[in-house]
Amino acid sequence: MTRRTIIAGNWKMNMRSASARSLAKGIVDAVGKTSDVEVVLCPPAAYIGAVTDVTAGTPVEVGAQNLFPADDGAFTGELNADMLTDVGCRYVILGHSERRQLMGEADADVSKKLHAALAGNLVPIVCVGETLEQREADETEAVVESQIRGSLEGLDEARAAGIVIAYEPVWAIGTGKVATKEQAEAVHAFIRELLGKMFTPDVAAQVRIQYGGSVKPGNAAELLAQPNIDGALVGGASLKVDDFVGIIQC
Ligand code: PEP
Repeated sequence: MTRRTIIAGNWKMNMRSASARSLAKGIVDAVGKTSDVEVVLCPPAAYIGAVTDVTAGTPVEVGAQNLFPADDGAFTGELNADMLTDVGCRYVILGHSERRQLMGEADADVSKKLHAALAGNLVPIVCVGETLEQREADETEAVVESQIRGSLEGLDEARAAGIVIAYEPVWAIGTGKVATKEQAEAVHAFIRELLGKMFTPDVAAQVRIQYGGSVKPGNAAELLAQPNIDGALVGGASLKVDDFVGIIQC
C-alpha cells in the first residue's frame, strides 16, 4: 500500500495579507507544477483568500485550522465547512492540541466537526497526542486511543480511509523537543493497528498518519523514513519558505 506523503503547514495565528501571499508564492514556486508530495498550507481564516489566489492552478492545496459544525445560521464569528470549501479549502485541521487546551475542545466536539467536514467535502486532519505528564505516566497509548475513538465516533468504514490523522505529542509542539524516530514510529504503528481494529486492516493501511512537533529540515528525513509516518504537520518551520521547502524536499 503506497500512501502519498502529505506535508501540511499550520500557520496558526501568524502572517498578514502581504506576508501570507509572499510565503505562499515562495512555496508554490519551489513546489513547481507537479509534486509527489502533497503540500497543504493552512493559513489563518482571514488569509485563506489571499493564499488561494496564489495557489489556484498549482498542486499546492489549502486547509483551514478549524470549522464550526453547523449549517448557515446564527453562529456569530464562526465558519462552516461549506464556506471553507467555497473559498477553496480542501483540508481542515481538527482537534489541534492548542484548541483542546485553550478553547476546551473535547473529543465529542472534534467528532461533530469531523462529520461536518466530511459532509462539506473537506478532508479532516485529526490531531491527537499526549502531554509530557501522560507520557511519563506511561499513558501515551491509552490517551491516543481514547482521543482517536472519541474523535472518530460514528465514522463509517467507507469514509475512514480518506481522513488524515496527525500524531502530535503536546510536549513536542513549539518546544524544539522532537520525538525520536523510534518514539514517533511506535505511536504511529499503534495508531494504525488501532484503526485496523476499529475499521479494517485495509482501511488502516490507507489512512495517512502525519507526525507533528518541532519538525524541521534537519530532523524531517529520519522521521519521514519510518514505515508508518506518512507526512508532517508543521508549525513554526512552516512560516519560512526555506524551512518548509526543506521539509518537503526530505
Ligand atoms: C503544530 O502546531 O501543529 C506544530 C507541530 O507546531 P511546531 O512544528 O511549531 O512544533
